[in-house]
Amino acid sequence: MGNETVPLHRRKKLDSLFEAFSILAEDTYVYLCDMVYDYSRWSKTLVQEFGLPSEYMINAGSIWEEHIHPDDKQTYHEGIDAIFSQKAKGHDMQYRAKKANGEYDVCTCRGIVITDDNGRPEYFGGAIRNHAKQSHIDKLTGLSNQYGFFEGISRQIKTHTNSRTCIIGISRLTEINEVYGYRFGNRVLQLFGRYLMEHIGNRGGTYRLDGCKFAVSTETQSLKELEESYDSLRAHFRAGINVDGTFVALELNAGALSLEDFDTDVQTIYACLNFAYDESKTRKHGDFVPFHEELNLDKRGRIAMLHDIRNNISKGFDGFYLLYQPVVHAESEKLIGAEALLRWKNEKYGMVPPDLFIPILEKDPLFPDLGEWILRTAVQETKEILKVIPGFVINVNLSYTQLEQPNFTSRVWKVLKETDFPPDHLCLEVTERCRLLNMDLLEKVILNLRSGGIKIALDDFGTGFSSMGLVKALPFDTIKIDRGFVQKIEEDDKERKLVNNFVSIAKTFGAKVCVEGIETSGMCRILREYNIHSFQGYYYSKPIEIEKLLSNYT
Ligand code: C2E
Ligand code: CA
Ligand code: CA
Repeated sequence: MGNETVPLHRRKKLDSLFEAFSILAEDTYVYLCDMVYDYSRWSKTLVQEFGLPSEYMINAGSIWEEHIHPDDKQTYHEGIDAIFSQKAKGHDMQYRAKKANGEYDVCTCRGIVITDDNGRPEYFGGAIRNHAKQSHIDKLTGLSNQYGFFEGISRQIKTHTNSRTCIIGISRLTEINEVYGYRFGNRVLQLFGRYLMEHIGNRGGTYRLDGCKFAVSTETQSLKELEESYDSLRAHFRAGINVDGTFVALELNAGALSLEDFDTDVQTIYACLNFAYDESKTRKHGDFVPFHEELNLDKRGRIAMLHDIRNNISKGFDGFYLLYQPVVHAESEKLIGAEALLRWKNEKYGMVPPDLFIPILEKDPLFPDLGEWILRTAVQETKEILKVIPGFVINVNLSYTQLEQPNFTSRVWKVLKETDFPPDHLCLEVTERCRLLNMDLLEKVILNLRSGGIKIALDDFGTGFSSMGLVKALPFDTIKIDRGFVQKIEEDDKERKLVNNFVSIAKTFGAKVCVEGIETSGMCRILREYNIHSFQGYYYSKPIEIEKLLSNYT
């Protein structure tokens, strides 16, 4: 039976009703069935995406049923049966439906029966909401969200399309929320998103990633042009905007990346972009930071390398290993511990030092797994030394992002239990960057670890602005003075005074001092006059392989 069997006036009526339905059903697919002839019209987008024969169909219910997941079929069938046998006046069901590409999307389908003047069913119409599609839209701004962003970048990688992408974020949005209220903050985001789309993103994609962060991606603009656009955007918001009668000025940050090398994946690109963004925010006062300029390496090699490193984390930590740098007692110069230092090596890149990948990957969702691997490997490999040097302490570096993982402490305890390693022979080093975390959380984590005997060291003391604040706020067992403060200690009186002051500060708070970067005998001669507990540096030993550490000291 073909469409032509349906009288023209009925076909016309269906069309006009369908248009009315479509206006109401934003973001969803619409279907409408003339029940007298079982003749229906379905949204064009649905027809295309799910590969239905046509917008107009006779007996669409059974055609659609072919697309329903086998496990959901019966419920669907019963629902439709109830409608057509007049047992039900509508339905509201969820099922998985197969798209033209063979994948299933979860859909919610809601429909009602419209009766004629005599109360007989005449039309059955409704809307189908595709969850997969819907979740790509940010409800607040109407922009494509993080999933849409990932999809866009993945497509560019897959199709080898050169592009420039920039993450742009609003500073201090939390403060705006606190001062003016949450709804006002939402309005700011909406206006910002709209402006961004109209002024930069209109030639590519505009996305809202999360919280205060947006992204624009362009296949036509150069990085330079993107930077210029950003600068005028920044000037516009810095001068202030009118939000429903209230005037606010906004400060922005921006990190960008040029995608030219397709030997990568979207997660790596995202990590690099976030790294550039954080640089803009924390070190460049909101200036436009392109990813490669922050690094000395050729940017092409860099992104591909990060991709390989990232992949190797998920492939059983392939290529990762630890070196150990001895820590000696300042007086006796005897070995009392070692610091585990991460390395990654593969055929293509050789040995890669941690500075080149840790800062970029530490925010990656995979990083906590690497962190656990580092801890496990370090305690496993050095356990033997405890038998020979009973006071030996292994130092393991932490990234601040590990500390904020909800299960961080339990993971540490689990590793120590499984390896049967005594907690009081482990020292975890944190850097000042952990000030980026919530202080209450940090304190809880540190107290938990210390309560079980684990030692905590503050690494790179003095290199940041808040070392003092941290030492005051948290109980550290050891403070490690950065090698930057002792490099010229032999000739510089000021450096000597500074180190002396650092030592008094540490003593005030009951912490021991370790000085890093001891390179000459002159340095240790001078430093030995201060109340320093331990030394670490090339003068004693460079970081070495575990075999060498064991053979030298056991
Ligand atoms: P760090 O924790 O401050 O580690 C000390 C760094 O100083 C090491 O560099 C070490 O090789 C170097 N060093 C030690 N003595 C001397 C010396 O006398 N002279 C000079 N010039 N340098 C010396 P490395 O191994 O390249 O590590 C760099 C940074 O990477 C580390 O700084 C740490 O922040 C990070 N890192 C290393 N391993 C890990 C890890 O397992 N986890 C985390 N989260 N970060 C790590
Ligand atoms: Ca360290
Ligand atoms: Ca250090």
